[in-house]
Amino acid sequence: MESKRNYVAADSHPMNGGEGPYIYVQNSKYQTGAVEASKEMIEEAITKHFDANKTLNSASSLNQIFLADLGCSTGPNTFLAVQNIFEVIQLKYQLEKRRHLDHSDDHVHQIPVTFQVFFNDHFSNDFNTLFKSLPPTRKYLAAGVPGSFHGRLFPNSSLHFVHCSYSLHWLSKVPSQVMDSTSPAWNKGRIHYTNAGKEVVKAYSDQYAEDMLSFLHARAEELVVGGLMVLLIPAVPDILLPSDTTNGTEKDLLGSCLVDMAKMGLVSEKRVDSFNLPMYYSSPSELKAIIERNEHFSIERMEKLNNPKKHLSLPNLQMRVLYLRAALEGLLQKRFGAEIMDELFNRFSKKVAESTFFLNPQNQNSIVLFVLLRRNPN
Ligand code: SAH
Repeated sequence: MESKRNYVAADSHPMNGGEGPYIYVQNSKYQTGAVEASKEMIEEAITKHFDANKTLNSASSLNQIFLADLGCSTGPNTFLAVQNIFEVIQLKYQLEKRRHLDHSDDHVHQIPVTFQVFFNDHFSNDFNTLFKSLPPTRKYLAAGVPGSFHGRLFPNSSLHFVHCSYSLHWLSKVPSQVMDSTSPAWNKGRIHYTNAGKEVVKAYSDQYAEDMLSFLHARAEELVVGGLMVLLIPAVPDILLPSDTTNGTEKDLLGSCLVDMAKMGLVSEKRVDSFNLPMYYSSPSELKAIIERNEHFSIERMEKLNNPKKHLSLPNLQMRVLYLRAALEGLLQKRFGAEIMDELFNRFSKKVAESTFFLNPQNQNSIVLFVLLRRNPN
């Protein structure tokens, strides 16, 4: 099996790195909630589905575990996720070891001695910040792997476990039709598919399917048979429209601020009309159908992450603005310049505060899907 799109040079839009009030490290509590809420499910996944000996024997090197966190950003959530996976796998091995000792089995030498973690994100991610904050007491080796996860990142059959949280809603690119003024999918006056026509929504969902399939294709080559993949994917419930969710509505409001600023001559209208966010939130049934198109993975578990609402709903509106700024400022700056960022987010902040939609807790209905996939022998 050869990957069609080997080393993909995708559009890169990392989270805010460096220092200051708008950086990802300071403004990613929302995403921390998802990682925390998945802890027990990951424990269960490893206990039930991670066959230590079998998986190791099929790897290129024995007695080593290779784990990758894809779309790791700058921390701290990636360290939390990795530590959890590391501890559960370690515990599983200790139990195996004891079992073998009890049976005076000489397989004891197969207890892994090394645990290697690969931290992946776009080339332009602030890896310096990530490396500087690696937990000093960690008991695993760490390496950074730059590049797009929509293409190949690792050698064939080299990974035992892949984790990817809050990253797969990012598309590899904005679908070209939505920026083409001659196309029925031209998304004039908006920066996202929320509240847009069905042609725009279709262009986005087609791009999402293509990207997910590329992601799965690349991982199928990289994971050993029996290897596991845990994906935490922001999504929308099957029955709702994007405009019924905070994920969709916040993008729409941000777009309306840019349109207002274009009317006042603060930014070019042409630039706003040809700018779109490369983000898509699938529904559970849509995602399931895409995954099932790849015959190399079986879906072991797929469900809405059962996190208490307090984890998922941003506690106050100011936090919501900061979280969105940490995630999108880099992308917006590239397009519109750094000098308008304060004005843009001040306007956004006001609109969010005045919005009856955001004030109603009933509308905090965006979901995160927990997806556990296992690499099949075929
Ligand atoms: N997993 C972390 C960070 C989520 S933020 C957490 O849960 O907190 C999303 C991250 O995905 C960003 O750092 C972004 O740069 C990265 N990302 C988006 N698309 C990517 C791609 N194609 N390849 C690698 N990283 C990507």
